Amino acid sequence: MCNFPGPVGGKPATFSHDDVLTLFHECGHGLHHLLTKVEDLAVSGIHGVEWDAVELPSQFMENFCWEWDVLQGMTAHVDTGERLPRALYDKMIAAKNYQSGMQTVRQLEFSMFDLRLHSELDAAAGPVPVERVMSLLDEVRREVAVLFPPPWHRFPHSFSHIFAGGYAAGYYSYKWAEVLSADAFEAFEEAGAGKGSLLDAQTGARFWREILAVGGSRPAIESFKAFRGREPRVDALLRHNGMVNA
Ligand SMILES: [Zn+2]
Repeated sequence: MCNFPGPVGGKPATFSHDDVLTLFHECGHGLHHLLTKVEDLAVSGIHGVEWDAVELPSQFMENFCWEWDVLQGMTAHVDTGERLPRALYDKMIAAKNYQSGMQTVRQLEFSMFDLRLHSELDAAAGPVPVERVMSLLDEVRREVAVLFPPPWHRFPHSFSHIFAGGYAAGYYSYKWAEVLSADAFEAFEEAGAGKGSLLDAQTGARFWREILAVGGSRPAIESFKAFRGREPRVDALLRHNGMVNA
């Protein structure tokens, strides 16, 4: 929902950076629909795209909002017209990446717990003892967690995404879509490296042809590989999150 503030007191409407992220994100979903070349509604646009790849175009678009060059072209102080200063931009990036490692291992913990809960514990065979749920979570935490909550903590009781939110065994898709979208964006970074601009028409045409245009008419992983020329890699996401050197 692009529910943005309107103009106040005779001044132009001002968007926060977060509003702009939302606008770009939703535009990605819009482009997915608008640029489809599939005639069959059930698999055109975002229809029929696997749950864990449906956010690829939208999260891909968000990346532009963190690029210095792009922000220079679309920011202006409401009174002076001055573009975003570099010092403020650097602070925004630092704030975005603050504790991104902790955020990532937390998401890994949620994702792995969700997948193992649904694949290893069989509720159809009878009630699952709560001790088993907690010991499963402990196993996952020993694998990926850095901070361990106190033993009385009952996180699974409020993990509403996977019980009421439709994300059962699908929580991992949040992180996976970030891997895909960061890796896809890296194709633009590579194409633009020599010429100082991310806006590479050839790469853009390929993104349209192989990802946006085909919708759910083939497996999303095939579309990704057709665009990128290889399997997805995590490297770009780690770099964008400040976990490895840019
Ligand atoms: Zn979305």
